[in-house]
Amino acid sequence: MVPSPISRRTVLRGATALGALVAASSGLSAQQAPVRSVKGPAAPLPPRGEFIIRDATILTMDPKIADLATGSVHVRNGAIVAVAAAIDAPKAQIIDGRGMICMPGIIDTHWHLWTSLFRPFVRADVNELGYFPVSNRLGQQMTPEDSYRAVILGVAEALSAGCTTVHNWAHNVRSPEHGDAELAAMRDAGVRGRFAYGPAQGMADDEPMDFAGIARVQKDWMPGDGMLTMGICSRNVGAMSIGGAARGVLTIDQTKRDWDAARKLGLPITVHTSGPSPITQLGQAGLLGNNDLQLVHPLLTTPEERALLVKHGVSYSTAPTGEARRPSKVGVIQLGELIKDGVKVSLSTDHTTNYNCDPFVAMRILFALHQNRIGDAIPLTVKRLVQLATIDGAVDLGIAAKTGSLTPGKRADIILVRTTDINMTPVGDPYEALVSLAQPSNIDTVIVDGRVLRQGGRFTMLDHAKVVKDAQEAAAGLRARAKWPA
Ligand SMILES: [Zn+2]
Repeated sequence: MVPSPISRRTVLRGATALGALVAASSGLSAQQAPVRSVKGPAAPLPPRGEFIIRDATILTMDPKIADLATGSVHVRNGAIVAVAAAIDAPKAQIIDGRGMICMPGIIDTHWHLWTSLFRPFVRADVNELGYFPVSNRLGQQMTPEDSYRAVILGVAEALSAGCTTVHNWAHNVRSPEHGDAELAAMRDAGVRGRFAYGPAQGMADDEPMDFAGIARVQKDWMPGDGMLTMGICSRNVGAMSIGGAARGVLTIDQTKRDWDAARKLGLPITVHTSGPSPITQLGQAGLLGNNDLQLVHPLLTTPEERALLVKHGVSYSTAPTGEARRPSKVGVIQLGELIKDGVKVSLSTDHTTNYNCDPFVAMRILFALHQNRIGDAIPLTVKRLVQLATIDGAVDLGIAAKTGSLTPGKRADIILVRTTDINMTPVGDPYEALVSLAQPSNIDTVIVDGRVLRQGGRFTMLDHAKVVKDAQEAAAGLRARAKWPA
């Protein structure tokens, strides 16, 4: 494939040793060579044009801009220009929004995209074939090519489910080239996101993360065109816990070693808090930072710890689909308490090995568990849940000036949800419909940074059949190399 000017420009940042190899065989210079010239997408990303989404139900998720029962959104060169009842722009293409909810794209704040290939190996009901042992074992067999294919598959699912931003929680970066591959996949799929560079599966706890490799990848990829940002993901801190043995558990000193190095590079940090909460310990060690730390799985916090989180601007991502499967002794999802105490919160998928990405089901689970436990004490509205899935995620990832709401001046990350499907119609309150009724198949159109990546429920650019075939081949390769199941 001859890269178009757009794709050639967007790949420059990722030139690597692998890129040089491609260059040597293709006649391109290393500077010009994409990380993956052959196995990238079949076509470049669609152009950013000028269009108006007309006559949709508009949910802005911006408290200063009213929702509209029927209205329009004007987009030009990737930015939202206007949101109004009627917009006149003669040069703009028209996207018919009748029968649709038009809203900001979903923002997923914690997703291990690299584990997407493990579906044929895991069983939800067999401990030895659970997500942790399987991904730990097979993860150690992964090549950069496997990482690329896993991330493309995961992002394809994210887009299909209406997610326009993904925080790629990559705790299996086996080499800087694996990092390049994951970033290349996010770039090629056109999603917005943060790449959280992590340790590798099987690494010893006393082994520091590869900060030379992290700095090299950061230099090559950042700031790029602004679509992708970077951080690190840390091994668990200070306690054995669910998945702790598989993923590594650091002492406070080891944590300080890794986190200080990340902060020196200006990289935000994310960490799981499964099991006993490390918040007090982290606070005592001066590691809670200043608006640069995200915790995942808010299950066991105390009021004092939540006050610490507010003080340091620490966010908490809940991944209810998996959290709801955990034994009650490891805690309950404390969404109500966190919101009441003013902690930054957001929504995430976690992984898609033995469940799928469905932000609507995630919101329903949160609502059900909240009502069951403390709904009579702390009110939770359906609109608050949609806020959790959109603008709150942007705040968590530090990109609220760019995305998360339909606000003129922000980038155009927009989805259209069909309300005429059998499971949705007839629709009354649109927030009620999203939280109580919607499913990913209702997502008609997905726009990221002004590029229409899905329309009519189909990819405009990604080759669905190729994504599937590549994932199947990669899973088969892992099976053979691991001599699975022996
Ligand atoms: Zn996780």
